[in-house]
Amino acid sequence: MWNRVEEVLGDVRRPSRYVGGEVNSIDPGQVDADVRFALAYPDLYEVGTSHLGLSILYAVINAHPHASAERVYMPDLDMEQQMRERALPLFTLESRTPLGDFDFLGITLQYELTYTNIINMLDLAGIPAWADDRGADDPLVIGGGPNALNVEPVAPFFDLVVLGDGEEVVLDLLELYRDPRTGGDRKTFLERSSDIEGVYVPSGYTLDPEDPQAPPRPLEGFPERVRRRIVPHLDDVPVPTRPVLPFAEAVHDRAVVEVFRGCTRGCRFCMPGMIYRPVRERSPERVHGCVHEILANTGYEEISLVSLSSSDYSAIESVTTALAESLGRQHTSMSLPSLRVDRFSVDLANRVRAVRNTGITLAPEAGTQRLRDVINKGVTDEDFGDAVRAAFSAGCDQLKLYFMLGLPTEREEDILGIAEMVERARRIYVEVGVGRRPLKLNLSVACFIPKPHTPFQWEPQLSIEAFRDRISTLRHALPRRGVRLSYHDPDSSRLEGIFARGDRRLAPMIVEAHRRGARLDGWTEHFDPGVWEEAEKACSVDAAGYLGSRDLASPLPWDHLDSGVSREFLLEERARALAEVRTPDCRMGSCSACGVCDPTLGNEVVNPDV
Ligand code: SF4
Repeated sequence: MWNRVEEVLGDVRRPSRYVGGEVNSIDPGQVDADVRFALAYPDLYEVGTSHLGLSILYAVINAHPHASAERVYMPDLDMEQQMRERALPLFTLESRTPLGDFDFLGITLQYELTYTNIINMLDLAGIPAWADDRGADDPLVIGGGPNALNVEPVAPFFDLVVLGDGEEVVLDLLELYRDPRTGGDRKTFLERSSDIEGVYVPSGYTLDPEDPQAPPRPLEGFPERVRRRIVPHLDDVPVPTRPVLPFAEAVHDRAVVEVFRGCTRGCRFCMPGMIYRPVRERSPERVHGCVHEILANTGYEEISLVSLSSSDYSAIESVTTALAESLGRQHTSMSLPSLRVDRFSVDLANRVRAVRNTGITLAPEAGTQRLRDVINKGVTDEDFGDAVRAAFSAGCDQLKLYFMLGLPTEREEDILGIAEMVERARRIYVEVGVGRRPLKLNLSVACFIPKPHTPFQWEPQLSIEAFRDRISTLRHALPRRGVRLSYHDPDSSRLEGIFARGDRRLAPMIVEAHRRGARLDGWTEHFDPGVWEEAEKACSVDAAGYLGSRDLASPLPWDHLDSGVSREFLLEERARALAEVRTPDCRMGSCSACGVCDPTLGNEVVNPDV
């Protein structure tokens, strides 16, 4: 394999994506493992190497005395062509072993538009796409990541799927695999793995032909519902303090430490906010220790404290103050992604990293207070004004704003409200920033996609035409100069919407689209709506049915995949949304009975006084 790979590298763009041997990657020659994992990110190297989840699993598995993990990413189209021409199977970066030779192939499900990449990677590896077609010599293909909570459109491609936190489940699977009682038998292993909390075995469930929109029914021996695995204490979770340093430029090229998992702000459109509950914070001591360890092991000059909403970390003030002092001496900067729209967050960002010349990004999501109450985005007009004023006062002259169109109950005044917020930001800039260069304002607009496991899972998605109309309304309301409007491609949002609330009947369409050439659909330059239209027709897919509103009383295709948040809570939240009533964050107020916490598990906040 080594020589065959070397021969190809001279004929492809960015060969560094395929050479392996990066600093902190394992040396396969030094590893004596009896269980071997290949961990796959179904997108290009520069996207995949930035992913924290796979980096954690890489560390966890490689710390096990009897196991090893190697990495593989989706090859770019030129590499794919070379591999197909030379019959070179897809291989891991560490030992250049073909994927078919591993015991497990773990694939992360981050985003709907990577689904054809999964088929492509399996195909390039010579592994049958359909789990039912695999035999004793094929690896067990495992899915995980946020979209595991509605894996149904791709479920037939996986032998098993991990719901929730994977760090402990992967070790349980390893032990089961090494258990002589499974006797190396695939079927026995799969049956027994369904006893592990958080493991879903799609072949143990079958669609009801009379009611294909209902969740698949369990065969004998498989549970009715599969509960998401939740690690109760983040301090018990290993931190990858020796992350692999990518050769090619990565989308996020910096050290990262996860400061907490989960978010209970309760934005009603947000799937991560529902499926990662409850909040579990890492202790400040552990955060400090990990930051310094990672910097020593990598030489990075920037550390990012990540989570779903980093300024919500209850020890953020003390941690950033102490880190700013120690990192300042090492000329290392700190960043906080996912800023909340309020003055506190912006002041904090100003403190940890000067926003001058870098700008700030805020996501008010909706243009009026009414609609922000509907979606439970706790941002007031005052918060917005305070945040942009604080940023401009600190010298910022670039502002990026994120909004969505097509949210439930949206009216024309909500669209015009976006333009008014833009106007207001410009006025504040003039007040604060007289004499400086003009404000650079980027407005990014997405089409609202109803996601499973959220209070809006029953709502319809805008048609492509309606989305274009609303974009046009917004464009006309915006100032003619000084604002750059960009919006998500409506065709790819439509496809994402179909898969987000899809079921198993979509799997053949993914295979068909791949056969017709669909690849790297998340990349605008590669996405071809024509190919998907043909695949939809060939497979008689009722797209309108997937994108329309769902009956509140009927079962949903993902009802058997239990995030821990109850259907009653989601229905109640939907009713409150329509009544324009907000629900407070349970970290600060009383429990809103979402169903996740129990006597052994609850919000774990390191500084309860905040
Ligand atoms: S059960 Fe209550 S306290 Fe726990 S996450 Fe849900 S709303 Fe918050």
